[in-house]
Order: sequence, then C-alpha cells, then structure tokens
Amino acid sequence: MQVQTNVSLKAYNSFGIDVNATNFIELENAQQLEEVFANSYLPQPIRVIGGGSNILLTEPVKGTVLLNRIKGITLLEENEEHVLLEVLSGEVWHDFVLYAINKGWGGIENLALIPGTVGAAPMQNIGAYGVEVKDVIANVRAWHWIKGKYIDYDNEACKFGYRDSIFKQKEKGKVFITSVTFKLQKKHTFNTNYGAIQEELDKQGIKELSIKAVADAVIAIRSSKLPDPKLIGNAGSFFKNPTIGSELFNKLIDKYPKMPSYPVDKHRFKIPAGWLIEKCGFKGVKQGNTGVHEKQALVLINSNGNATGLEIWRLSEEILQSVLSRFNILLEREVQIW
Ligand code: FAD
Ligand code: NAP
Repeated sequence: MQVQTNVSLKAYNSFGIDVNATNFIELENAQQLEEVFANSYLPQPIRVIGGGSNILLTEPVKGTVLLNRIKGITLLEENEEHVLLEVLSGEVWHDFVLYAINKGWGGIENLALIPGTVGAAPMQNIGAYGVEVKDVIANVRAWHWIKGKYIDYDNEACKFGYRDSIFKQKEKGKVFITSVTFKLQKKHTFNTNYGAIQEELDKQGIKELSIKAVADAVIAIRSSKLPDPKLIGNAGSFFKNPTIGSELFNKLIDKYPKMPSYPVDKHRFKIPAGWLIEKCGFKGVKQGNTGVHEKQALVLINSNGNATGLEIWRLSEEILQSVLSRFNILLEREVQIW
C-alpha cells in the first residue's frame, strides 16, 4: 500500500476540478484494502472515489482519499432463467453492462453509458430510461470502517429510493462498498417506453428487439444529448427531479399548461428539473468559468476547464433560488458536495 501526499484530483473527478488530496491511496486489489483498514493511523476522514462522476470538489480534500480500482467478476449461480454475479466495486459500470450484454444477460441494458464504477451504483441507485439498479441488485457487501467488519446488505437493507440508498444516508462516510451481487435475466423483458428509446429504435430500423439493440439505442441518445466529461467537465444531472403534491401541481399547471409532469402516485407528480431550470432562463448560460449545458439544463459544466468547485456550487445556488422563487419548488442537489 503506497500513500501519496498532496495529489491533484483533477484527473479523478469528471468536473475536472483541480484540488489536492492530502493523502491519496490507489487500491488495485482486495489485499491492499485489507492493509488500509488494518492501519489504525490512517488520517481521517476517509473518502472513496470511483469514477469521480458524481462529486463536486469545493475545497482541498483533507484526510485520506481511496481511489477504487479493485476489479473482478465471479459467476456465483446459473440456471435456465438467471445468473447471479458478484462484481468487485472498482469495475467500470459501462464495461460491466457491455460484458453482461455480450453474455446475453439482461436487466441493465437501459443503464448503458452511465459513467463511474460498479461500487458507486448502489450509492445513489443509479437510474435511467425507466430502470433503476435496485431492480437487479441482490446484495451489497461493504467494509464498515466504524464497526471494523464486512456487512452484507440485502436489497431491502439497502433502503433504495429515487437516487437514494442507505449508503447516501445512514452509512454515508462509513463504508467502502467492496462488491455488488447482481441477478440478471436470460429471458428478456424490454423496457422501451421511456423517453426517446422507441423513436431511436425506429430510426435505426430495428425490427427485432434484443438487449444489445436497446443498449445501442440508449448509447446513441445519450451520446447526442449529454456532454462527454472528457471534453467538457460535468457530473451529469446536478439536481434530482423534484416530486410535488397535488395542491402545488394544480396551481402550477393552471399557470403553465405545458409543464411536463409524471404521476408518481395519486397525490404526487414528478416534474423534470431541466424544464424548471430552462424556464428560469438558465439553459445554455455561461457564467465566468462555468455554465449550464445548451442541450440539457440539468447539467452544469466547467465550461473552459478552469472552474473551481465553489464557482459551480454558487451557480447551482443561484439556480436553486431562482426555481424556488418562481415555482415554490426546492430543488435537491444530486451531486455529492465535498
Ligand atoms: P464517484 O463520483 O466516485 O462517487 C460518488 C459517491 O459515491 C461519493 O460520495 C463516493 O464517496 C461514493 N462512492 C463511490 N464508490 C464507493 C464505494 N466503493 N464505496 C462507498 N462509497 C463509494 N447517474 C444516474 O443515476 N443516471 C444517469 O443516467 C447518469 N448519467 C450521467 C451522465 C454523465 C455524463 C455523468 C458525468 C454522470 C451521470 N450520472 C448518472 C452520475 C454518475 O455517473 C453516477 O452517480 C455514478 O454511479 C457515479 O459513479 P462514480 O464511480 O463516478 O462515483
Ligand atoms: P428525458 O428523456 O428528456 O426526460 C426528462 C425527464 O422526464 C427525465 O429526467 C425523466 O425522469 C422524466 N421522464 C421522461 N419520461 C418519463 C416517463 N415515461 N415516466 C416517468 N418519468 C419520465 O431525460 P434525459 O435528460 O434525456 O435523460 C434520460 C434518462 O437518463 C433519464 O432517466 C435521466 O434520469 C437519466 N440521466 C440521468 C443523469 C444523472 O446524472 N442522474 C444524467 C443524464 C441522464 P427520471 O430522471 O426520473 O428518469
């Protein structure tokens, strides 16, 4: 185990923010992780970075940063209907999606091209195009450094919600997720009703559905709409899509009859945050080194590569206040602020 000091994190966060970590350890195998946690002098707090695609670094990171590159996939169980796979947490999420598709195992094809690692996927219950990772997770194993032991969280114990889990709440800052066990299907059911998937399949002339065809459609849509973090620093959607009650919904729909909405249940409606932000005039704005992406108002960007985390945070605060005063809706940041 090698501890490096004062390491720039610019290459390790998708916003491309240049701040240093006081102590930095890159982990390539489980044995190195054991060594780290056997070391009682490890400077606190301990933080984990996977792909760095859901964090905003607003100041130098004190304590110890663990960069997770621990990889491996084990087939635990296989029958005619499904497979059970334990995937080590440093695997790249999209590589795992492609691996599963190649094997003919379905369930995560709608989640293609989401950046980051397998270990971060349960953290915010990654979701896209009508599928959430909770739908295929059987177990999450984590080293709990306060309790000093490994804990297995079954699906229920993970307390998954919309972009939420126990790892973002009660266990935040206390665990290193070491592996995730997935149950994937050999007999496929397709989810193509969401967003532009069907339109894209039609455009590509796909007559016979397959998990690869669905993933290819998702990849094509995402590539056309979302900025590539390698070219423009960003962390995907900065805010969650808010859910509002029927009283506020009725008031707003009277005033804005074209407001898009999706019923969550009888009394609650999800409103796309991107629409609210666009209505407040932020879509495509440039502000100093930062801005809001021209094709997707939910995505804040490091527009010239020189932004600080604080600049991006300030822009997010301005957006939040503007949406609050115009719509009486308090947006919640999805990105983890460090
Ligand atoms: P990081 O940014 O490294 O970490 C995020 C948080 O998880 C941090 O708090 C970190 O400490 C913690 N963490 C990471 N690994 C571990 C671990 N092993 N154990 C314990 N804690 C850990 N998200 C979606 O849900 N849906 C999308 O469609 C989507 N699209 C995106 C598109 C773009 C262009 C970008 C840039 C981001 C997008 N995201 C999306 C957000 C992001 O990709 C996901 O949240 C992803 O799961 C983050 O993975 P990561 O490894 O980069 O996490
Ligand atoms: P979109 O298809 O233009 O839709 C806009 C919003 O409306 C989405 O955020 C989605 O909410 C909601 N929506 C659309 N169709 C819906 C339906 N049939 N039922 C319920 N809600 C519906 O969105 P987009 O920006 O291109 O993104 C496509 C997908 O990728 C979305 O699921 C989005 O969440 C995901 N994505 C996530 C991130 C991230 O960083 N978290 C970044 C990019 C894309 P939901 O977000 O709840 O699905």
